[in-house]
Amino acid sequence: KPAQKTVKDYIRTIPDFPHDGILFRDVTTLFADPRGFRMCVDQLLAPYAGMRIDKVVGLEARGFILGGAVAHQLSTGFVPVRKKGKLPGQTISQAYTLEYGEAVVEVHDDALQPGEAVLIVDDLLATGGTAEAGIRLIERLGARVVGCAFVVDLPDLGGRKKLEAMGMDVHALCA
Ligand code: 5GP
Repeated sequence: KPAQKTVKDYIRTIPDFPHDGILFRDVTTLFADPRGFRMCVDQLLAPYAGMRIDKVVGLEARGFILGGAVAHQLSTGFVPVRKKGKLPGQTISQAYTLEYGEAVVEVHDDALQPGEAVLIVDDLLATGGTAEAGIRLIERLGARVVGCAFVVDLPDLGGRKKLEAMGMDVHALCA
């Protein structure tokens, strides 16, 4: 009997995207497979079963796909953290550093209430800069992050260490 495929088996690696020398982890093949997608959503939320979660926050853009499915399964609301200029209502902004330059993410200022328990979801943790900016936005609204769930963790890039140093619980399905 062949071994069951794991989440990692559905992810393909594409060399030199978006720049020369980058090995891009392409999760569209995971999302496109019915068993792969269900397995990955189930495994993302498994550690939080029975915990209070009020909102799932998804980080643009693949975090929307995963976070929407996780929120539906947990029967919570979903809140998007988006790149600057995409959200129509009143927002708060958080800048963070990229390899070259700076980026800004935003959240609607009424999307989370003080004291709400939030689960952050994204596809991949690299340097942790994107997740850190998301955490800052959530905390500035008075909510608290109870977990950060990723499909892929690239530990050599330091994201897990950075988030754990902020006191975060980091959950990843594969490296
Ligand atoms: P970080 O801010 O942790 O350095 O980068 C993580 C963000 O960049 C995530 O939002 C993630 O979607 C995106 N990202 C960086 N590298 C990759 C990659 O190889 N594959 C995918 N799917 N996303 C990546």
